[in-house]
Amino acid sequence: MSPRIQAPRGTYDVLPDDAARRDAVEAAARRILGGAGYGRIETPAFEATELFARGVGASTDIVQKEMYTFEDGGGRSLTLRPEGTAPICRAYVEHGMSRLPQPVRFWYFESFFRYERAQAGRYRQFWQLGAEAIGSADPLVDAECILLLAELLDAVGVREVRLRLSSLGTAETRAVYREELQAYLRRHEDQLSEEVRNRIDLNPLRAFDADHPGTREVMRGAPLLLDRLSDEDAEHFAAVRALLDDADLQYELDPTLVRGLDYYARTLFEFTSDALGAQSGVAGGGRYDGLIEQLGGPATPAVGFAAGIERMLLAAGEHPVAAMPVDLYVAYATDGARHPAFGIAREARRAGLAAQVELAGRSLKGQLRQAGRLGARFVAIVGDDGATLRDMESGEQEDVEPGRVIPLVLRREKSL
Ligand code: ATP
Ligand code: MG
Repeated sequence: MSPRIQAPRGTYDVLPDDAARRDAVEAAARRILGGAGYGRIETPAFEATELFARGVGASTDIVQKEMYTFEDGGGRSLTLRPEGTAPICRAYVEHGMSRLPQPVRFWYFESFFRYERAQAGRYRQFWQLGAEAIGSADPLVDAECILLLAELLDAVGVREVRLRLSSLGTAETRAVYREELQAYLRRHEDQLSEEVRNRIDLNPLRAFDADHPGTREVMRGAPLLLDRLSDEDAEHFAAVRALLDDADLQYELDPTLVRGLDYYARTLFEFTSDALGAQSGVAGGGRYDGLIEQLGGPATPAVGFAAGIERMLLAAGEHPVAAMPVDLYVAYATDGARHPAFGIAREARRAGLAAQVELAGRSLKGQLRQAGRLGARFVAIVGDDGATLRDMESGEQEDVEPGRVIPLVLRREKSL
């Protein structure tokens, strides 16, 4: 026997039983985000590597070690998308969407690729549900984004949710603060982990993320960006918080919040779930006012979020999603009735019913058992001269003309 081939490490198959729960998440997104004026967008699975190098930030974990980068036949360097924001900003610029009424709002449900250590809640191909609102700096947009995400997590049933919130200020504030933090880190260099020490120049903010005990001790006394915000940024942040307070959304202010993407400015947030283990991050996002300009577009303020589908489902637990109900199962009593039965099922679907026909040549008894397994509401048994329609709930049955099966089911479905 030939050796069996397995799915690559860090990937998984979505089997039909799992698909129902994912469909429910997608439907919630369509309802909640679509209803708020967000339109669906899909971008290519791979992009020019340069997009992520510039858009995500050269110093980030994603760009430094997690990208699937390859050269295509024409010698171009391409990368499987590791996140959704940079591609959507690229599309916004490419299609001249700054000419549309602002903000332009998008949502997506796509898979992303990162070369990471595969474990529970961490995959190499994973799915995210996200949204971006591009073209407005108004704090209303930040608050709306956060509230829509909270509503989504609630609709999906994510348990024990916690929201952490901070503001990074603008790029200028951050640059000044960065120097202050770098000077502070250098003064305590001997107590820091090697990784943090090596990153003082490149990404000093990540020091707040470290698990290393010495580093953590040093960081307890570190200056905080939240205390250094310009008046304008502080006002913007206060406005966002006031809107969340009015909406009764609970959050913790966390001045040490950092996220693994370089493009954030001002509002920054992360939703975690205590129902998850080590990989507790369910969703995150923030404002990224400088990104579009960095990608060669006009200076454009924007805000967005991304939520991990696998972690949302894990944190939602095993609450069952109803299987697709079957309105009509079409059985046949004789070989000669196979074709008429097939035709009735097809017609029924065109009439809007969920209808299936026997496909495995079972005995009539076996067909009825199969209809029962599927939970079919009605069964039509087609014979050589006529049909019998059985109501599976009441057990009642009557002989009918084959042409009457669909109208009868439609009428009774409606009156139920
Ligand atoms: P983490 O800190 O867990 O690595 P992250 O900061 O890299 O997360 P983001 O890039 O902000 O995550 O992505 C948003 C969400 O996408 C995360 O909160 C998480 O739910 C999900 N996510 C990120 N990476 C993975 C992955 N490799 N597998 C599954 N889900 C992921
Ligand atoms: Mg990560």
